[in-house]
Amino acid sequence: MTKDEVLEQARALHVDVVRLQFTDILGIVKNVDIPVKSLGMALDGRMMFDGSSIEGFVRIEESDMYLLPDPSTFAVLPGRAQAGVTARLMCDIVNPDGSPFAGCPRSALKRVLAEARDLGFSITVAPEPEFFLFEGTEARTTDEAGYFDLSPSDLGEDARRDIVLAMESMGYAIEATHHEVSPGQHEIDFPYTDPLYCADTLMTFRVVARLVARQHGFHATFMPKPLAGVNGSGLHLHQRLMSDQGNVFYDAKQPNGVSRTALRYISGLMAHARAFTAITNPLINSYKRLVPGYEAPVYIAWSMGNRSPMVRVPRGRGMETAIEVRSPDPSCNPYLGLAATIKSGLDGLKHRYELSAPISRNIYRMNDAERRELGIERLPEDLEEALDALEGDRVVWDALGDHIAQRFIEAKRLEWDVYRHEVHQWELDQYLRMY
Ligand code: GLN
Ligand code: MG
Ligand code: MG
Ligand code: MG
Repeated sequence: MTKDEVLEQARALHVDVVRLQFTDILGIVKNVDIPVKSLGMALDGRMMFDGSSIEGFVRIEESDMYLLPDPSTFAVLPGRAQAGVTARLMCDIVNPDGSPFAGCPRSALKRVLAEARDLGFSITVAPEPEFFLFEGTEARTTDEAGYFDLSPSDLGEDARRDIVLAMESMGYAIEATHHEVSPGQHEIDFPYTDPLYCADTLMTFRVVARLVARQHGFHATFMPKPLAGVNGSGLHLHQRLMSDQGNVFYDAKQPNGVSRTALRYISGLMAHARAFTAITNPLINSYKRLVPGYEAPVYIAWSMGNRSPMVRVPRGRGMETAIEVRSPDPSCNPYLGLAATIKSGLDGLKHRYELSAPISRNIYRMNDAERRELGIERLPEDLEEALDALEGDRVVWDALGDHIAQRFIEAKRLEWDVYRHEVHQWELDQYLRMY
């Protein structure tokens, strides 16, 4: 859509308010609402906002930032008719001179995608966000359904259906949706699209899921591990690499039809996994998901079918050949998560990292000696370890750029420190009486 088409649509749909949305470094969506009469000015990139009030953006003395809406993201928000019709536009953050702002995650992803284009590639991705529907904001559910179950046991089913309908009303295609393994846990799968569109979709989805869940009396959470003892929520990212020859992850002449390029891409993902984990698994709670026994990866390995490693090559071949990255979780900033993983994969094409053989056994069941023999390293065990790895990795750092990398690490070190100072319920339960 062009600027004029957006203005025309806004008129035709009787839009009253336009919500300009952007995403901060920590993956939180921010909104500036404008009356529809300011839409033309906004589309010209003349909407100023004070960047100093946004976490990790700018210092007070350099706080004038501009929002530059992407006209192709124009969509009417669902279910707000009483308050008038509200549309939204996803925005890039730009400097007063119109250049992309170094702290804009959406622009960081664009830079990585431009690098891919310079190498002659385009990338498409398909995400599988998982989430919980709780009754209220305590982690409570009365739903006892499991994987692929249907009602009457699945109380969240109506809410999930309405989340899907709301996304479809905004023009998003949905591939599939089902109940997940844990009580109250759901998954909605999106089709392959351009990565920028995918990240916009995920940001929209997190907002819409919450909004619609609330109308059903539920709280939708993308917290990675809200309940101990059952599966947490992942955000598996399927990636395909295309050149003008078609899908370059496929090669009929290679064993299993998996091309050398695909193997190199996997080697890049594995070489940088410890560093990009800080981005793809950004919460202290993220690391409670990455433990053995819950279908979430713990080790840096790859496989053809087995689901315990971090990277899997799912069954489809030909144009469907894809690499599934299974470690990310849905609390991550999707722009940065995609930028960091794609940059890592592309780095594998340039540098020939050694790639270990695919793992066909369940790695959780191997002992340390067996894993050592196969050269299998583990993912970081906590946020601090992941931040250290990020600090030491030039490639992932460059995917973010200095500004984002520094601000991200600063904010996350603080988060880690606050956590470290806290005395948790588990410690009291464990030690108070005994010592
Ligand atoms: N919930 C699992 C995870 O944390 C994935 C389960 C599945 O989709 N097979 O990644
Ligand atoms: Mg799935
Ligand atoms: Mg799943
Ligand atoms: Mg999957």
